[in-house]
Amino acid sequence: MLFPTTIAGSLPKPSWLAEPDKLWPQWRLQGDDLAQGKLDATLLAIKLQEDAGIDIVGDGEQSRQHFVHGFLEFVDGIDFSHKVEMGIRGDRYKAMVPVVRGELKLKGRVHQTEARAARAHTQRKLKITLPGPMTISDTVADEHYGDKIKMAMAFAGLLNQEAKALEADGVDVIQFDEPAFNVFMTEVQGWGIEALHRAIDGLKCTTAVHICYGYGIKANIDWKNSLGNEWKQYEEIFPALAKSRIKQVSIEAINSRVPLRLLSLLDGKDVLVGVIDVATDKVETPEQIVQVIGEVMKYVPKERIVACTNCGMAPMHRDISAAKLVALGAGAALARKTFASDSLISIKPGHVPGA
Ligand code: ZN
Repeated sequence: MLFPTTIAGSLPKPSWLAEPDKLWPQWRLQGDDLAQGKLDATLLAIKLQEDAGIDIVGDGEQSRQHFVHGFLEFVDGIDFSHKVEMGIRGDRYKAMVPVVRGELKLKGRVHQTEARAARAHTQRKLKITLPGPMTISDTVADEHYGDKIKMAMAFAGLLNQEAKALEADGVDVIQFDEPAFNVFMTEVQGWGIEALHRAIDGLKCTTAVHICYGYGIKANIDWKNSLGNEWKQYEEIFPALAKSRIKQVSIEAINSRVPLRLLSLLDGKDVLVGVIDVATDKVETPEQIVQVIGEVMKYVPKERIVACTNCGMAPMHRDISAAKLVALGAGAALARKTFASDSLISIKPGHVPGA
């Protein structure tokens, strides 16, 4: 099937589970109620995606407060009680970050509960996201390893441990979120991709990396405004990603200043094309989505295009996000109709002599 659909990862949480409209919400339940609430919200997220016609569904990241810290909570060797202020993503934000004070080790499984619950309740392909090693290393302070690369590789080992277990849980796609990949371009080629390779080592399921210019929050919008008319950061890293063992690359396309011609540098990869803008409440029309897919088809073979959101939808209003899911499903369906006929032209019986 052409243009299967998926989401970058997160969906807003119901207001009975966590504070709405926030990137970093406080939970509204505790203890066993919280555990049950996370699972209930996971089932809702799956149902909403299925009804919208999303083909590769996710847990909507309903069980984690934040995409990096949701993983770090399960890692030994990190001190959360004495956070320090650090500039992250090349000093774009100041954040209070936890400190690595000892050897990193997983306390146990990280996403087993929600992955298994999701697997038990959908027949569709299932994707689970994990933060990438470079992005994690840019979101903690180090007082143990004394070397960013060494620490990133240690995180990559833990990610690999959890990824293998997720694969055994029946997860079809494991995606690593690496927003740091368009901040530290030289390091991506130097060790970022190697760290990802460590994280996917031995996996047989589909692997993906999501790179992005971030959620639609003010710090990101200001930063994007400083990047000029054409965002060509990817020109430096796409050739290296094309050579990598990661199968899919997720990028933003709609309303983005990333020149789509750069996508031709991702030769051989499936491209998860962002056709839903998470930085505006305006809901896309199916026709707009078809237009973006049509543009991307100039640079990526249509068999390699997956229709996706630009980024996570966690901080959005719930009703807007639900409407955008429906638009994503409808847009991809319309694109299938619109572009399926192209390929039929060349095999029209009339072109065969005597037919
Ligand atoms: Zn993103």
